[in-house]
Amino acid sequence: MFNNVKEVKEFCENKKIKIIDFKVVDLAGRWHHLSIPAERFNESIIENGIGFDGSSYGFLTVEKSDMIFKPDITTAFIDPFCQIPTLTMIANIYETDGENKRFEGDPRYIAEKAESYLIETGIADENIIGPEFEFYVFDHVAYNNKPYHQQVSLDTRQAYWNTGINDYQNLGYKVQFQKGYHVDIPKDITNDFRSKATRLLEDVGIKIKYHHHEVGGAGQVELETQFGRLKEMADNTLKLKYIVKNLAIQEGKTVTFMPKPIYGEAGNGMHIHMQLFKDGQPIFYDQDGYSQLSDIALYYIGGILKHAPALLAFTNPSTNSYKRLVPGYEAPVSICFATANRSSVIRIPGYAKTPEKKRFEFRPSDATANPYLAFAAILMAGLDGVINKIDPAEQGFGPYDINIFNLPEEERSKIKSLPKSLEEAADALEKDHEFLLAGGVFTKGLIQDQISRIREEARKVNNVPHPKEFELYYDL
Ligand code: GLN
Ligand code: MG
Ligand code: MG
Ligand code: MG
Repeated sequence: MFNNVKEVKEFCENKKIKIIDFKVVDLAGRWHHLSIPAERFNESIIENGIGFDGSSYGFLTVEKSDMIFKPDITTAFIDPFCQIPTLTMIANIYETDGENKRFEGDPRYIAEKAESYLIETGIADENIIGPEFEFYVFDHVAYNNKPYHQQVSLDTRQAYWNTGINDYQNLGYKVQFQKGYHVDIPKDITNDFRSKATRLLEDVGIKIKYHHHEVGGAGQVELETQFGRLKEMADNTLKLKYIVKNLAIQEGKTVTFMPKPIYGEAGNGMHIHMQLFKDGQPIFYDQDGYSQLSDIALYYIGGILKHAPALLAFTNPSTNSYKRLVPGYEAPVSICFATANRSSVIRIPGYAKTPEKKRFEFRPSDATANPYLAFAAILMAGLDGVINKIDPAEQGFGPYDINIFNLPEEERSKIKSLPKSLEEAADALEKDHEFLLAGGVFTKGLIQDQISRIREEARKVNNVPHPKEFELYYDL
């Protein structure tokens, strides 16, 4: 949007912008923010930045917690939710010592380094990503009236009741459990919410492909954006979450990207479609290959599948992630690839047939991931596959173009499973992370911070008596 400070200042004058807001991403993928009066915005802020305490952001292995952020003016957008006209920009993190030294563990910097590493390998020069966003829209008051532990222990009927969307006394025009896919108005009561979100997202420069109701009957929806470059799509992911959450509050609702908010209903995935381009040409297509995939595409898939358990520590970094990755809900459980099979880790869409459209999607990921780290980690795994010619068929990853749950037990047990818990994913990353260090893209410190963070979260959750435990053990 802007090339220099002068342009920002002129824009602020013309649009009567009074506040400039800066967003800085933490390790978990949450934005933190800080604001200044628009008249204080100047060259010095771009050059010298603003100091902050990095230890509150989850970056623990750095020796000093003092850090600096410097805004990236090219990311600026007008915040539609602030009462005082506000221009918001995403910032990069720098170290305090050393001239202009980027902080190696800044998720945004890791995304940039991954993009440069791709070019260095000579394999391709552009990684194009298309994330899909699934989330539930709940009635704000109904959701907050109950303590959390009652929310998560709800049985089917109560889940409906509590969302405020359905109740069993009146099923007219109500979306049924697990029957929400593409339902039409009037059943589709969140249509206007999604259309409003779509218009706001277009206003801040995020191009929406489409929106629709998803399978979950208690208010699950989906927004898909058009594809774009890795770092840009990670920026867009945080912008999109910011906009839908804030719109929800305005409308008396909340949204959640939690992977499995309701037991028995479909979980929220964030599938990631991917393509590589070299000199503007797509390189994943070969008319004669399996599912019209080139050898590079297949090796790329091989790398992703080989490193899938470790990848999950970045793509599925919450305890709740593993409540989604269970059979029966179009979420993957087995480490394999296939055309149009929704229970596989990698699905090659059957309808994307031209070279420009040829792609595949990584299905395990969910939106509790830090998108910069998740997208970069997947790229690194794919490139490792291409560099080491990891053939997914030789590794026993398929293709499985059948429902793997119909295979005889003996056959099925040969297919590796995804980690079943956050601890398993942390263990996998501990053992397998060399591929992330290639080209200096990820640092050991950041990987260690991530492992510590998710182990600590797993410990916190595991230490709390679960409502289900009362059912199973109270009277034992
Ligand atoms: N909600 C499913 C998941 O958890 C995906 C459903 C779909 O988009 N077909 O991944
Ligand atoms: Mg979709
Ligand atoms: Mg979907
Ligand atoms: Mg998908």
